[in-house]
Amino acid sequence: MDVRPFWLAGRAATGEAELTVTNPHDGKVVAICSVPTEEQVEQAVAAAEAVRAQAAALPVHVRADALAHVSRRLAERADELATLISRENGKPMMWARGEVARAVSTFRFAAEETRRFSGDVQRLDTDAGGAGRLAYVTRVPRGPVLAITPFNFPLNLVAHKVAPAIAVGAPVVVKPAPATPVSSLVLGDILAETGLPEGMFSVLPVPNERAAGLVDDPRLPVVSFTGSGPVGYALLDRVPRKHVTLELGGNAAAVVLADADLDWAASRIAVFGNYQAGQSCIAVQRVIVEDAAYDRFVERLLPAVQALVTGDPGDEKTQVGPLVSEAAAERVEQWIAEAVAAGGQVLAGGTREGATIAPTVLTDVPADAKVNREEVFGPVMVLSRVAGVDEAFAAVNDSAYGLQAGVFTRSLDIAFRANRELEVGGVIVGDVPSYRADQMPYGGVKQSGIGREGLRSAMEDLTYEKTMVLTGL
Ligand code: NAD
Repeated sequence: MDVRPFWLAGRAATGEAELTVTNPHDGKVVAICSVPTEEQVEQAVAAAEAVRAQAAALPVHVRADALAHVSRRLAERADELATLISRENGKPMMWARGEVARAVSTFRFAAEETRRFSGDVQRLDTDAGGAGRLAYVTRVPRGPVLAITPFNFPLNLVAHKVAPAIAVGAPVVVKPAPATPVSSLVLGDILAETGLPEGMFSVLPVPNERAAGLVDDPRLPVVSFTGSGPVGYALLDRVPRKHVTLELGGNAAAVVLADADLDWAASRIAVFGNYQAGQSCIAVQRVIVEDAAYDRFVERLLPAVQALVTGDPGDEKTQVGPLVSEAAAERVEQWIAEAVAAGGQVLAGGTREGATIAPTVLTDVPADAKVNREEVFGPVMVLSRVAGVDEAFAAVNDSAYGLQAGVFTRSLDIAFRANRELEVGGVIVGDVPSYRADQMPYGGVKQSGIGREGLRSAMEDLTYEKTMVLTGL
């Protein structure tokens, strides 16, 4: 098998060591990726720094055209990319196709947003001291971005960092997850076609032990991290004076109230508690159901969960595939066992075969069990019964995390109340917490992170406002 080069300042390069990427479903080798040496990492960072001013000065139409090109080429290579994501991640084809389609949109939205993204002019004569003055406000890139990305969306979450960086004119160095670097390397192939200045992007599959040097490097003043809380907060502690964005995990809740369309709620929750084998930061983990609807909801949910097609991620019909590794599945199995030992009941699933956990529904689980408190990152949902809205919202907020929450209700009053009271970055009314449109602001509160992504929000995050005051007007 040929060794896949990485991208060093816009050029394909190979180092000395290699990284073997395997399919979690069958253990087969998907790719052998070259790993950059320390010297090559240094070259990539130096090139990002060297191109910083040129990138910031790139005309908007050049950035927009480059982004539109990437979007188009991702669409053209969609089959190949979906197959690759499915193989390197173990993600079922249907979700891998969905991820590619989203990455196509992410780049398209960036191409559109960069044309709109502009500064502001403010009159200062709203006060006597500002008479004859005007503030001219522009947005300036903070500088080269270090993008550290997780395994669970190996293409679109890289897109969410690369596309806004290009859109604002900032060089970007990507450090992909070691389990799933190949999709980001293909994105590198496409970026190399754009004619953007060399140095504007690098994709460096360096092992975690060597990533600290990139994090510490003062030439990369922005660290945009998506991944787990412990790793993210350790990075923040390491570089507290850098501009750090953290998109972290959660234990997302779906609230089902008695006035909801229970067929719809059950079908959505069944799918989005288990999509990507629950390996999404906004997969449904806690299902909080109003007492008056509980039995009717459960009799709809369980058949929908049991009907999910589990198996080979390469099969177009498969809905639930393996976790990223057998070790990850063993951990989830252990958490289920702990919940059961503490009095929890298994209503569906609860079994493991290799890296695959059967879609699992638990109930009667004590509040302090790991499957409630922590992020399961597996196809496991915990059902609980509440008396009404007060108790439901208190249960949602009884969490260290706060990424998104879903509220199934037909009441506009309750929808607005949810928006006021739920301690999360996003409230999804009438659907699961797992809903994300790539252009909308997205991110968490509490231990789910710092900052927002979504094209416009990410572009604001990667830039600062610079004010020029004009006097004597
Ligand atoms: P992870 O924290 O293990 O790894 C994330 C990235 O950090 C990887 O690239 C990894 O190689 C890198 N990394 C690990 N140790 C490092 C170190 N010492 N220095 C520098 N980089 C290091 O997370 P994961 O298992 O890949 O992804 C799953 C996690 O990501 C879950 O917690 C999930 O909720 C979270 N996530 C969050 C969002 C979001 O937008 N909020 C989206 C997807 C995933």
